[in-house]
This record gives sequence, C-alpha cells and structure tokens, in this order.
Amino acid sequence: MTANHAKISAPAALAELKAGHERFVRAISKHPHSSQQRLNHLIKGQHPLAMVLSCSDSRVPIELLFDVGFGDLFVIRNAGNACTEGSLASIEYGLEGLNIDLLVVLGHEGCGAVGAACSDHASLSPSLAQLVLHIRQGLLAADVALESELAVRRHPVLTAEQLIRSSQLVRERVSNGALVIEPACYTFDHGNIEWMGTVGPVAGLA
Ligand SMILES: [Zn+2]
Repeated sequence: MTANHAKISAPAALAELKAGHERFVRAISKHPHSSQQRLNHLIKGQHPLAMVLSCSDSRVPIELLFDVGFGDLFVIRNAGNACTEGSLASIEYGLEGLNIDLLVVLGHEGCGAVGAACSDHASLSPSLAQLVLHIRQGLLAADVALESELAVRRHPVLTAEQLIRSSQLVRERVSNGALVIEPACYTFDHGNIEWMGTVGPVAGLA
C-alpha cells in the first residue's frame, strides 16, 4: 500500500480494499498505517483511497474490516448507513475537497436501524424516528419486502441510488465515470462482505 493514494484508480482502490478484507477474514491482518510515524506523515494533508458510508454499529469497525489505517479511508457513519443531508455533504466534500473516486456503501447483518424500519412497533425518539422512516420509505418505494435480513442487503443499493438522485455533484461524477459507487453488505458469521455490484447512473436522471 502506498503512502499517497492520490493517483490510485477506483478499481485499484477497490482491489486494495478487497485484499485487505480477505486478510481480515483469513485472520492475517497486517494492521498497516497504524503508527505514529504514519500519522506524522499525514499532518500536511490526507489522500484517502476511498470513502465508506457505513452504519455506526460498533460491530462494523471499518478500518479493521478492510485492514487499513490512518489516512486510508474517509468514513461517514450514521445509524443505518442512510442517505442524509449530513452524509451527502460529507460525500460531496470527499469528492470536491479530496478528489476521491470510490465510494463503498456498507450495510450489515442485524442492522438495528434497518430492522426498526421493517417494524411497525418501534418506539423511537423524534430524530431517530425520522431516520428510520426515511429508510422504510426507501424500501417501500423499491418494493422491498419489510423483512430485515432481506432489507439489509437491498438497503445499501437503495442508499447509493438515493445519493445519486439527491446530489448533482454525485450524479455528475457517476455519469462521467469519475465516481464508482459499490454497495455491499457485511455478515457477522463469517466476516464476509457481499458486493452487490456497481451502481451506475440512475434511470431518468441526466
Ligand atoms: Zn446498522
């Protein structure tokens, strides 16, 4: 892994993440870029190889899952890896400010937020209720059955499509090939990540 990721293409960055995850699954993680020296090297600036929009769940530690370290990933997290104003703004910064061309949207097995979105009975605070309703509406709009383990696999794809619909910058970068979005779902049992396939330009949007 190079110290500066500015010139790594999206396919190369994705290959690097997959290789790091393979090390994690095989319990041969290298824990690269975890030293104070690496951190000192980054004081003048960051050139992460990818963005990851993931759930806040403590069982989904992004740098450990991909066996990377300081300066490698620009990570955006919220409950349910949802397309929110905050996540969109952060992704737009990653595009314009950091010139990142790979975004992974990572859902996971047993996601509480997606599970709540599949339930009629959740009693939630107002802000959380709004987030969960947003996830639920996305699932319903895509005709996804409100069954949590099915929904956690579809929701990252729907989030990717919502990001494209909601942001002109994201839309433009995807359309001209300057941004690759890869939805995926992490499973606790074997530590596997299932890759759902690149999300291209959303139909009906230029
Ligand atoms: Zn979750």
